[in-house]
Amino acid sequence: MTDAPLKLFNSLTRELETFQPVHTGEARVYTCGPTVYNYPHIGNMRAYVFADVLGRTLTHKGYELTHIINITDVGHLTDDADEGEDKMEKMAAEKAQSIWDIAKHYTEAYWEDIKALNIRQPAKWSVATDYIEEMIEFAKSIADKHCYELDSGLYFDVSTIEDYGRLARAITEDGEGRIDTVEGKRNAADFAIWRKTPAGETRQMEWDSPWGKGAPGWHLECSVMGEKLLGFPFDIHTGGIDHREIHHPNEIAQNQAFCGCGGLSEATNSGARIWMHNNFLVERSGKMSKSSGEFLRLQLLIDKGYHPLAYRMMCLQAHYRSELEFSWEGLEAALTRLKRMVMAAERIVDAPDGGVTDHPKFKPAREKFEAAISDDLNTPIALTALEDALAVKKVDTAIKRAVAEHMDAVLGLGLFQLTRAALRVRPKSAEISEEEIEDALARRKAARAEKDFATSDALRDELASKSVEVMDGDPLGWDWKLG
Ligand code: AMP
Ligand code: ZN
Repeated sequence: MTDAPLKLFNSLTRELETFQPVHTGEARVYTCGPTVYNYPHIGNMRAYVFADVLGRTLTHKGYELTHIINITDVGHLTDDADEGEDKMEKMAAEKAQSIWDIAKHYTEAYWEDIKALNIRQPAKWSVATDYIEEMIEFAKSIADKHCYELDSGLYFDVSTIEDYGRLARAITEDGEGRIDTVEGKRNAADFAIWRKTPAGETRQMEWDSPWGKGAPGWHLECSVMGEKLLGFPFDIHTGGIDHREIHHPNEIAQNQAFCGCGGLSEATNSGARIWMHNNFLVERSGKMSKSSGEFLRLQLLIDKGYHPLAYRMMCLQAHYRSELEFSWEGLEAALTRLKRMVMAAERIVDAPDGGVTDHPKFKPAREKFEAAISDDLNTPIALTALEDALAVKKVDTAIKRAVAEHMDAVLGLGLFQLTRAALRVRPKSAEISEEEIEDALARRKAARAEKDFATSDALRDELASKSVEVMDGDPLGWDWKLG
């Protein structure tokens, strides 16, 4: 294991804590996955890039990682706090398709984004509907002491546990900020752990339970899959910062009930020792909203010609706990930076993989990298350490390659698999193929060699009319780009 101790910011204590595994040599991580009723937007994908960097860092530190990401295909309502309709049911009705088909389509689309962003496969993608029986058993085990039944379902009484809402900090005794529209709830913050199908209705997804036909509440699934697959307490639970307010406090409340209900001064009662949350990717014009026409999916970036890993670079350039503002200019800048790194990597790509990273010339870069990544995953600084390593001169290229690969294993840019050509901006709407561009450029080069500047200029203008910008002498080595 590497020496710098790994410090992580625990949202539960709001402090940096040194990572101490529950099981020696292991790290068990649970990440709240997507609700597969629509395509993920790039903000959602920021949450998985963050979880991926966390997982890669734990592997880098020598821990045997078990990472679970779930797929929510039931239970998530249009409002996180028990209001509205089930997102899956709603989309299935709108599209007149079965929920199962909707779930399959959007799960596969999500996996494509995962792959395109070099996010490693977790040990398991756990699908909520595969755990219904276990959810019912879990609910049964806490129902007597912590729940009450209403016509609409089985509700968790948050006053039966200590410290409810501590993770969110903002919640007061009367559940400030919650709209209480479910009649009969004892406390505004009480939440459904089982939602009964209303009399006379049939839902596409419903199961028998001791509380009648219905479906589980969203928070229940993560408690159950976390416990079943990782065991309580496991090491780290992750999600976006919105989950710090409702979903995770409710998960913690259920876990406390399940674990015998101690207060949160005992971290083990919360199910996971460390709760980590990534901040949001924001965009001012509202294109992050899945209800807007052209919303910001990874595929939109690709269609506009950007390599998906430029977006990963953009995420890495910000600390995961800072808000990150999306802009096309920002994406372009991230792409240029990635391209510079790939250029440096291309020069050493053929070096034999020596595996030796221990050379005094790389010591400062390696120490900087180690300190940065150990300091609550400070990827912005870690990136500069990688750049420092790539810039070291007059050294054995095999060592340089080993050092860079070692760092990139954490950052996940895949520098040695990328080429500059693959990073070229290529909008889908381009009217000209790459072969045609290369052919015109070859003819232009031949014309220039013969000092036939009229032909050379004509070819350049023709390319410009098709949005191809010829870039003679570009320091980054792109001869052309599509505008
Ligand atoms: P959902 O599919 O809505 O459950 O969201 C999937 C993940 O994305 C969750 O961890 C959310 O907290 C996270 N998330 C949602 N919106 C954003 C955003 N704009 N930026 C970063 N993470 C987000
Ligand atoms: Zn969850």
